[in-house]
Amino acid sequence: ANQLMNRPILASIHTAAFRHNLRRIRELAPQSKIWSVIKAKAYGHTLEAALAGLESTDGFAILDIQDAQWLRAHGWQGRILLLEGIFQKEVLSLAEELKCDLVVHSELQVQWLEAYQGSSEHGLSIFLKLNSGMNRLGLRPTEYRTAFHRLHAAGYRMHHMTHFANADRVDRLPSVGEQMECFQEAIAGLEAPTSLANSAAILWHRNTLGDWIRPGILLYGVSPTGIYADIVRSDFQAVMHLRSEIIDIQEIKKGEHIGYGGRYEAPEDMRIGVVAGGYADGYPRHAADGTPVWIEAAGDDGVGVICPIAGQVSMDMITVDLRNAPNARVGSLVELWGNEIPVDDVAQMSGTIGYELLCALASRVPVKVI
Ligand code: PLP
Repeated sequence: ANQLMNRPILASIHTAAFRHNLRRIRELAPQSKIWSVIKAKAYGHTLEAALAGLESTDGFAILDIQDAQWLRAHGWQGRILLLEGIFQKEVLSLAEELKCDLVVHSELQVQWLEAYQGSSEHGLSIFLKLNSGMNRLGLRPTEYRTAFHRLHAAGYRMHHMTHFANADRVDRLPSVGEQMECFQEAIAGLEAPTSLANSAAILWHRNTLGDWIRPGILLYGVSPTGIYADIVRSDFQAVMHLRSEIIDIQEIKKGEHIGYGGRYEAPEDMRIGVVAGGYADGYPRHAADGTPVWIEAAGDDGVGVICPIAGQVSMDMITVDLRNAPNARVGSLVELWGNEIPVDDVAQMSGTIGYELLCALASRVPVKVI
């Protein structure tokens, strides 16, 4: 913990923002229980921070069985949903030992579970996944109904589940409406709790909420659409703040070029700030010139200002146009994303979505849970 850090980059994870976002989600879906989706190390935020900030969730949804082991070892006694990953029979007994709820999405898994039931007394709970049109994982409606009956007969506690392909947009197929119709038909007459909604559905398809919602990205205060404006009025707070500092300043003459490929040409004499943070830290190499960073106290009256990056992102550094930041100096605090700069904005300038940037935070970046 007392390691000397020679680079100033740091990802701080704000558990108060986790608590706030979880509360907001409860307000949006007061009738539903919440699976907090914390796969991929809580979208890059660490399991430690998720457990600290989301302890009032109804359950955690994970992907890697090791994450269930970690949660149990750190005292989580509530429910854990294994979203996928029963790809070997052997995982079943470990999942049972860890008291996981299981997502079941294939005929092969149904067979394993039927056989497994025969061998032991247990209380396994299953979320049977319907392919309602996304055509990734899940059973088709006819197989689904048969599988439901078989697993029910084998003594499992059954739940219905499906996942939406387009809850964040209206111009693509399958629509949420079509998927809902398929779901309703497939489960007709089969009494069991339901789970459908991801973050986008929680925000924009309130008829899909059901008994268990599955928010991921909203917990982290980031937009499911990739556009921050879409959630700004819903009052979610960024949980991860990725910050660094200016480590050097270059005085550039008009017409000089900056960085690899000389992508940026100075339109006038100007100052360029070099910030510790590059693609080896998880900052996207595809970030275009103009991608915003925020620099503390660098403006005219000592206010924080937004400055555009200028030049190709390199492995360990980015270069920033300081024309808007007369008071920027070596040591000025720079936010790459978080409170002042939504990660969605960085993602948009890089041809991706906030999800990818959060998950891609590099392991070399120190993380501080606050
Ligand atoms: N449910 C399932 C099955 C998922 O795979 C995911 C994540 O992709 C989620 C819920 C959470 O999605 P989001 O982060 O968009 O809320």
